[in-house]
Amino acid sequence: MELVKEALAANRYALARLISLIEDDGADARTALAALYPRTGQAHVVGITGAPGTGKSTLVNELAKGWRAQDVTVGVVAVDPSSPFTGGALLGDRVRMRDLAGDPGVFVRSMASRGSLGGLARATGDVVKVLDAVGFAVVLVETVGAGQSEVDIARTAHTTVVVEAPGMGDEVQALKAGLLEIADVLVVNKADRPGAAQTARALEMAINRNSPAGEGGEPAWRPPIVQTVALDGSGVPEVLKAVAAHREHLCASGQWAGRARARVETELINVLQQELLARLRARVGEGEMQAWVERITAREVDVYTAVRAILGPGTGTRMNADKRG
Ligand code: GDP
Repeated sequence: MELVKEALAANRYALARLISLIEDDGADARTALAALYPRTGQAHVVGITGAPGTGKSTLVNELAKGWRAQDVTVGVVAVDPSSPFTGGALLGDRVRMRDLAGDPGVFVRSMASRGSLGGLARATGDVVKVLDAVGFAVVLVETVGAGQSEVDIARTAHTTVVVEAPGMGDEVQALKAGLLEIADVLVVNKADRPGAAQTARALEMAINRNSPAGEGGEPAWRPPIVQTVALDGSGVPEVLKAVAAHREHLCASGQWAGRARARVETELINVLQQELLARLRARVGEGEMQAWVERITAREVDVYTAVRAILGPGTGTRMNADKRG
């Protein structure tokens, strides 16, 4: 595929077009992904998540600058499910990355919601694969830590950075959103603001309460808490160090491979679910689907009976078998 070849030859225009193809999710996208897949698995995928306004975008910019100063290439995928703008959001990206404009070692892409959040999660995963395959050493995935889907997107990273900021209400946002469990590195941004030290202490206490014993005999990783001022870059080198240390930990403990396998399994199940449903809907048709909705609503049949009728006899046997088992 010509586009794949050009993207692999560091043609940014081809890379952008390839990513658009993947967002459109057509047959060409599948062909491209199949060609690129053997080249994936090299990048360190770093998720950045937190409540809106904590300074994620500013921090992502600073982190990218920091990595570039170390000659590390960085791909950024900014996921914004609330944005009505479709893929690219080029103007926004240019404004965000003004300091890095023209640097071929950085590539930024915004992903906006199209249809389902599940679709967005899958598209994001595929864009990460593309950036990985074309050789970006670090792929940053920025999401708003609001809903389960955003948390799921963040979870697919090797290293998840959770960003908190003081003065965003009396509760620590990361605790409220359940983000602490997925944090490998905790950042208290806006450390120039009053209350940063208290926020850091609240997180410290929460970590102590959680104190993971290490899953399955694996040595435990204790998420470091780093205070930053993204506006002037203070603390950013410490975040870079913490992210690198987490990578070391994953490799040394064998969790790098373990997480990769778990990610593949989740992805396989997700894609199977989506494909099976798509095939079924193509076969059954919207009219019949609506007719079933009517009948279930009218209490003529229950949902399980309807599903058995839609799927055919094979499943009926399974469901009975499950009941017996
Ligand atoms: P996001 O919604 O999490 O991506 O947050 P943004 O990066 O857009 O930042 C939200 C606001 O906080 C912007 O006005 C930033 O300029 C400001 N901001 C970001 N980092 C800092 C910081 O370290 N200190 C202060 N005082 N403001 C910051």
